[in-house]
Amino acid sequence: MNTAELLHFDRHHVWHPYASVIDPLPVYPVARADGVWLTLHDGTRLLDGMSSWWCAVHGYNHPRLNEALRAQSEKMAHVMFGGLTHEPAVGLAQDLLQLAPQGMDKVFFVDSGSVAVEVAMKMALQYHHARGERARTRFATPRAGYHGDTFHAMSVCDPVNGMHALFSGSLPAQYFLPQPPIRFDGEWSDDAMQPMRELFAAHGGEIAALILEPIVQGAGGMWFYHPEYLRAARKLCDEHGIVLIFDEIATGFGRSGRYFAAEHAQITPDIMCVGKALTGGYLTLAAVLTSAEMARTICSGEAGALMHGPTFMANPLACAVARASLRLLQENDWHTQVHNIETALRQGLSPARELAAVADVRVLGAIGVIELKYPVNMASLQPRLVRHGVWVRPFGRLVYVMPPFVMSEAEIVLLSRAILAALHEEYSL
Ligand SMILES: *Cc1c(COP(=O)(O)O)cnc(C)c1O
Repeated sequence: MNTAELLHFDRHHVWHPYASVIDPLPVYPVARADGVWLTLHDGTRLLDGMSSWWCAVHGYNHPRLNEALRAQSEKMAHVMFGGLTHEPAVGLAQDLLQLAPQGMDKVFFVDSGSVAVEVAMKMALQYHHARGERARTRFATPRAGYHGDTFHAMSVCDPVNGMHALFSGSLPAQYFLPQPPIRFDGEWSDDAMQPMRELFAAHGGEIAALILEPIVQGAGGMWFYHPEYLRAARKLCDEHGIVLIFDEIATGFGRSGRYFAAEHAQITPDIMCVGKALTGGYLTLAAVLTSAEMARTICSGEAGALMHGPTFMANPLACAVARASLRLLQENDWHTQVHNIETALRQGLSPARELAAVADVRVLGAIGVIELKYPVNMASLQPRLVRHGVWVRPFGRLVYVMPPFVMSEAEIVLLSRAILAALHEEYSL
């Protein structure tokens, strides 16, 4: 198939994420990806600022990850997980429990982040059911969150960004709190907790769990908030018998400057979801971790088990490549990598503040965000970024990057300059 045929068929028959099939914006055909570079069919090389949506932390086509996948594929690509087990899954569970905040004791593997969120919510419901607290059927969550696209996950996404009106009637109605108001490095005020205090006082007995993305709200607005919010939330949940779920699918594995974002607040949730970077961007895999106490209570209930079991649960290929990725994180000293990227992004992106169109520039760990005053025009900004040699995919008012951890300082400078040049053109013409 030549490139023109490929693009033609794609345009007419293949759906892309959050995309229209009616006159869609162009997509770029990628022939291969190596390290921090994507190569398009015409040979154009783009410096990758997205890590393929938080995932490819070691860059692409990594010999060690390739090898882990090859070696595992020669033993078994997959076996069912009902009644069977294997070393890739058990080894990965061991690794995860060693790395997770203290108190996590059980691992449930699933095939994607959204499904991890579904399972975490199901765990909270089964937990209360087993304890006889059957009125606890609803969830609380801050606005501007993102937890995935399946129905229960969608019900706790921001109601406006998540287009809840479109699905009203099919979506469970949840309790929404204001977005955590205080910046990561702002001055803490306990007033920030007043809405949660009031909600829990009025409706605590109906609420099964509070679910949130710790520290970094990702796709819902790329917002970094104060760690004290998490400590106060932990306390309020305990006071009201509400389960605390951390969705670390975007933040896990070093992205925010800590291995898990929960570590910024030094607290342990009751349930946590991980995914995205878990396999270094190779295969889809996610996991739900919980405490021994939660798990035992769930299984002491009427069902006698957690009522979930995906076909591709604990896929050996995905588990094997995940183990190799976790090992690489340690060997590469992820903490230094992320710290260096943070410093370089702060320097590189800060000149954007001078643009009239820019509302805010913020950086945390290996995440850099330029927030504009108005939604970007994707039809013109996307090709501009590509012309400047970078793969950056803005959404709404946000132009943001989360580069692979292996990106060098010089490459961060290139990436930042390209973004600034594209923004200058876009907003001065
Ligand atoms: C991406 C994401 C999800 C959904 O994960 P999928 O693998 O896309 O289903 C859930 N929560 C957060 C915080 C995410 O960033």
